[in-house]
Amino acid sequence: ALSGDNSDLKALIRTIPDFPTQGIQFRDITTLLLDAEGFALTIERMTAMVDGPIDAVAAIEARGFVFGAAIAREIGAGIVLVRKRGKLPGGTVSVDYALEYGSDSLEMHDDAIPQGARVLVVDDLIATGGTVLAAVKLLRGAGAEVGQSLFVIDLPDLGGSAKLREAGVSSDSLFEFE
Ligand code: AMP
Repeated sequence: ALSGDNSDLKALIRTIPDFPTQGIQFRDITTLLLDAEGFALTIERMTAMVDGPIDAVAAIEARGFVFGAAIAREIGAGIVLVRKRGKLPGGTVSVDYALEYGSDSLEMHDDAIPQGARVLVVDDLIATGGTVLAAVKLLRGAGAEVGQSLFVIDLPDLGGSAKLREAGVSSDSLFEFE
């Protein structure tokens, strides 16, 4: 679901064509982060979309850390870091997911989730949904209750938010790009 219009914030996103590969329109949030008021409004509006009590925010490396940390601070929740392979020092659980070419994996600490914790997943952008669905699988496998995911940007044509809905996770974002 979308909250309002947020065209003021959308205007702060820089689009870089053909990054990281030919044909991709990269939606660069660093220009939004550089704008103090824009960043503050982004966190304020994302926080307003949080639905129900949350015990922990799961933030996805790397841009999800920026937004997830700020939202967690606003709602008084802790943060679970969902990281790329090999970064976490303790015992981990991991999940593999398919990319356009090959596969990748996400990890989190195996003691990060208290049984039944209500977890909100945060990332900067949802495209195919592969990344967030993998994170949801990891979190649920560890005993979390995951009902909502939150993004700055949705690319609805790539179908990620629909896939998340099928998995029983609502997805909310501030604005979309085609
Ligand atoms: P996906 O797994 O296809 O939903 O891709 C989501 C992840 O890839 C997020 O962590 C995004 O930061 C990144 N991503 C995918 N497509 C784009 C894009 N067009 N612009 C910026 N980041 C993207």
